This record gives sequence, C-alpha cells and structure tokens, in this order.
Amino acid sequence: MGVYEAFYRRSIEERDAFWAEEAKRIYWHKAPEVICDDSRLPFVKWFKGGETNLCYNAVDRHAAERPNDTALIYVSTETNEEKRYTFAELQREVERMAALYLNLGVQKGDRVLIYMPMIPEAAFAMLAAVRIGAIHSVVFGGFASASLATRIDDAQPKIMVTADAGMRNGKVVPYKHLVDEACALAKTPPEKVIIVDRGLDKGFPRVEGRDLDYATLRAQHLDAAVSVTWVESTHPSYILYTSGTTGKPKGVQRDTGGYAVALAASMDYIFCGKAGETMFATSDIGWVVGHSYIIYGPLLAGMATILYEGTPLRPDPGIWWRMVEQYRVAVMFSAPTAIRVLKKQDPKYLKSADLSSLKHLFLAGEPLDETTHKWIHEALGKPVIDNYWQTETGWPMLAICRGIEEKPIKYGSPGFPVYGYNLKIFREDGTECGPNEKGIVGILPPLPPGCLSSVWGDDARFISSYFSLFKEPLVYSSADWGIKDEAGYHFILGRTDDVINVAGHRLGTREIEEAVQAHTTIAEVAVVGVRDEVKGQVPVAFAVVKDPSRVETEQGRQALEAEVKQKVDELLGAIARPQRVYFVSALPKTRSGKMLRRSIQALAEGRDPGDLTTIEDRSALEQIAEALKTQ
Ligand code: ATP
Ligand code: MG
Repeated sequence: MGVYEAFYRRSIEERDAFWAEEAKRIYWHKAPEVICDDSRLPFVKWFKGGETNLCYNAVDRHAAERPNDTALIYVSTETNEEKRYTFAELQREVERMAALYLNLGVQKGDRVLIYMPMIPEAAFAMLAAVRIGAIHSVVFGGFASASLATRIDDAQPKIMVTADAGMRNGKVVPYKHLVDEACALAKTPPEKVIIVDRGLDKGFPRVEGRDLDYATLRAQHLDAAVSVTWVESTHPSYILYTSGTTGKPKGVQRDTGGYAVALAASMDYIFCGKAGETMFATSDIGWVVGHSYIIYGPLLAGMATILYEGTPLRPDPGIWWRMVEQYRVAVMFSAPTAIRVLKKQDPKYLKSADLSSLKHLFLAGEPLDETTHKWIHEALGKPVIDNYWQTETGWPMLAICRGIEEKPIKYGSPGFPVYGYNLKIFREDGTECGPNEKGIVGILPPLPPGCLSSVWGDDARFISSYFSLFKEPLVYSSADWGIKDEAGYHFILGRTDDVINVAGHRLGTREIEEAVQAHTTIAEVAVVGVRDEVKGQVPVAFAVVKDPSRVETEQGRQALEAEVKQKVDELLGAIARPQRVYFVSALPKTRSGKMLRRSIQALAEGRDPGDLTTIEDRSALEQIAEALKTQ
C-alpha cells in the first residue's frame, strides 16, 4: 500500500484517533470530550464538548508568538493602494471592530451580514464577528439588491457592514446604494448599517438613525481590548450561501472547531503552506474559497495572505505574476476560468516574472480541462493541483495531497479522495460503480470536520437537499457526475442536472466539451442539451476560437464547424456530435467563473434565460442570442 493510501485508510478506519491528532493543531480552551458524535446522522457533532475560537486561532495565537510577521497584504489595482498588517496590527484592528459590534449590542449567535469589496475592513469584520461568537454571513459584492434582500431575510442579521463603494475594472460599484435598495426590499432589514467610507461614492445617501460611519466608531475604540468569547466546537461560525448556479441558494452553516481543524490540516497536507510564507488566493471573500483560503486557512497556518482588489488583466495581464514575484508567494489558488483568460494573453507576461518562490498552483471551482491543465503546468514549470469541492464541504474533497505523498498528476483529474472523505461513485440504485463507470459522486457519512453542519434554519432541507438520493445507503450527494479510473484517479464530468439525454444515451456536458476543446483552435466551449422532437435532446456547442479570423467568413465558419464535429466523432462517437457549433467571442458566466449553462440552454430552446443577477458580462448572453439567429 502506498503512503497516501495508508494515510487515507487510517482517516476512515481509525477516524477518531486520526482526527484527535489533527485537533492538536489548534488551541482548545477546553478539550473536546467526544471526537465525533455521529449518533444522529446525517447530523454530526465534531469535537463535542470542546471550546475554542476561530479568531483566536487565526490571529491572537500568532500575534503572541510572532507579532511582527505579516498577516495581511492588501493590494488594489483599482485604487492603486497597498497596505500591510502584521499579526499584532491585525489583532488590534479586529478588537476595534469587535468593540464596535459589542457596543451596538451584537451578542453571541447574532448574525452580522457583510457586503463588502475586497478591502482589509472586510477581513476585520469577519474575524471580529467570530471573535465574539457572532455568526457572519458574507454576501458576494457582485450580487444585486434583490439577491442581497433574500439573503438578508434568510440570515436575519442584527447589523450589516458595507462600504460606500467598490471598484471593478475601473468603474465604481455603489455598494451602499445597493444595500439601501436591499433593505427596502427585505422583510427583516438590519437595525444598523456600518459603512466604511472609501470616498469613492461621494455624497452617498445616509439613513438617519440606522447608518453609522466606521471611521468615527473606530476612533472611539482605538484602545479597545476585547477578549475572545470561547464557543462550543459546534457553535456556528458562519453562514455562506451557495453560488446559486443550479437554483435557489442554500445557506451553508459551518461549525467552529471542526472547521478550524480541517483547514489547519489542509494547509499542511494539501496546500503545503508554512508559517511565514505567503498565500495568494485570487477569489473573493464572498465565495467559499475566500472564506477558507483567503481568510481562515492561511491565517490559521500563520501565513501572510493577500487580499487582492482587481482583475487578472489590469493594468496588464502580468499583474498576478508580478505579485507572485513581489510578495514571494509560495501558495497560489485560482480558478480554471482565470487561467483560460490568461492563456489567451501574450506569453511574455508569464515569462518575464520571477516565480521561484511559488511551490504549487491550485485550481478549483469548475472542471479543469486537460488542455488548460497541461498548458499552465508547462508554462509555470510548477505542479498545478486541480482540487474538487463545494461551498458545502468548505475544503477539498478530491485532490492530490502533496504534503503527504507527491503522487503524479494526471491532466484533467483532481486526483484522489481526500483523507476524511469516504467518497465513492454511486450508481443510481445506490450500489457502487466499478472502475471507469460513470456515477454520482457521494460521501458516506459522517462528513468529515469542516463540512456543513446543516442548512441555516432548515434541518429538513439539509436532509432533503443532500441526503435523499437513495433510501439505502445514507449518502451525501454532491450532485456531480464522476468517474474513477483503474489507478484511482477521479474525474468530474459535470453536474447531474447538466446531463444530455440523446436517444436514451446519457452524456455529460463536460465530456463533450473536452472533445470540442481537443480541437486546437477552440479556446473555450459550453455544451448544452437542447430539446429535440426525435432524439429527446441534442447537444449544441457555443465555442470561443483562439483565432477569430477563422470564423470571419461564412465559409470559414462552416469549415471549422465541420472540423469540430469531426473531432467529437473521433473522440466520443457520432452520438455525442453537437448538432450545431456556434462561434462567439465570450461565454456567459457567473462572477465566480461558472458557466451559466441554464441560461444558455434556455436561450437555445427559445425560453427566458432566468435570473441573471450574478452574470459577469451580459453581452456574452446577447451574443449567444445573436448567434442563434444568424449563424
Ligand atoms: P449551487 O449549489 O447554488 O447551484 P454551485 O454548485 O455553483 O451553486 P459552489 O459550491 O461554489 O456552488 O460550486 C461547487 C461546484 O463547482 C461543484 O459541485 C462542481 O460542480 C464544481 N466544481 C468545483 N471544483 C471543481 C473541480 N475541480 N472540477 C470540476 N468541477 C468542480
Ligand atoms: Mg452546488
């Protein structure tokens, strides 16, 4: 048995002994009495009886040991600012924010809704909440007022923290204005709204008696000393809504102790990050990657973390690589979409930076196609680790754990089940798939530490959304298709609701997309199933080409369409051949980089594209509508 296999097996077969050891990575005010209480599955209580605090472990502990080490590096290419905070400074700012919360009557268990751009105060706001046992709910700043209002009504926050505005691509986004609209729409608006005034939206409206200025309040608490509130391990640390790609977002509820232990272990075993090093996760605090690997993970590990306000392309496509060089980034975490965007740029940007500090690049959030995986691996000359997980799990379910064993990477595969996850591929009757047989990715409970403990305020929905796939056995359903090859490498084939059913054959959109992308001129593609009278559904592809001159003429377009179909025939067979291949210059995605297949499919079937509040670029959808009409 290999080193990793043995390690993994122990995490499942000697679960409590395994996690009892991992629990030593964090400080416990009171030691746990029971490592895993699984008497009420699927509900689990990790480290029951233990008392700890997430902020204490992320900040105070390091502030005491290494006060002058950098904890937070804020870089904005939108406002051209850079600020650094040591662990000692970070603790001071967090205590000021915590004092201000307490002064407003925020108590243990109260919700604090954070709707903020990527500025240091957003990190203070999160850490201050967990410091006093309040529960934060960060809502991604790209959500419009209606989406924000539904989250306000679900979380029912006592207070909200926001900013006058954010900046994106050089344009001002009026956060405070959106908050006002959302509060007007919400049934249970917060009592108070704290505003970090960046001076970006001069003269934003203020609501008398409700709105409070952060700088003024902070000045009143400069010397505040707020001791941490020790909470039970199972006490909720935060609520985070899923991205909503497949429908109504669910309020993922996370515990405290299990999450801290899981993240601390993952920093070592998966991300190979060490105290004193720098981590750069390019996500946003509004997403789970932001929670786990911009804020809590790196800080728990005593690393410096970069909070970046900006895009990968401004002021030029070399910005991220220059940041790696300048801050000596050791661990970088991004998403396949961003890499596909960078792949289209002049290679000189990547080549001219000194990337010697970088150990690994981690990518997650959507399928990483083989072509992109190979490209970035070769361009960087560093291992690129695809890792698969969900808002629900909080940390990777599939990955190559290089901190345990340096297993070879297979392009297109996020690797093996991560220790703690009893992950299997299931047939639809609840039995386990054999090698190379496609099925649903599921986890046999208990879910390991760090995963969701319930759906906020709705235990019944926790069971109905995640544990009702089969009568027997009880399994957490990821709602993603997967496959495991003979060597144990897993592949994710797309979401279970993204399946195309062609004359009784079930095809994953991902498989067809991989085949289309195997044509060298295709940069990116989305495949959706479109209703068909005869076959039930047929695949239709929307592709972005690397060399647009190839599709400038009708003749060129037709020739390329034929070549792409030919490629799919070769790789998957004629059954998977897209009925049409449309060429566009951009694909509609959410702000977190996920393809809006639902909306593309609706347009292709002549229906309304549905809720588009999280769309990155509306013109991409218009292009699709246009292509459907004219090509
Ligand atoms: P919702 O659940 O509200 O529809 P969402 O599923 O898009 O939203 P997230 O939790 O952010 O919200 O995304 C998790 C999903 O992203 C996974 O279930 C999977 O479909 C996809 N995903 C994440 N990482 C990978 C990866 N490495 N490879 C393939 N797919 C991935
Ligand atoms: Mg999901």
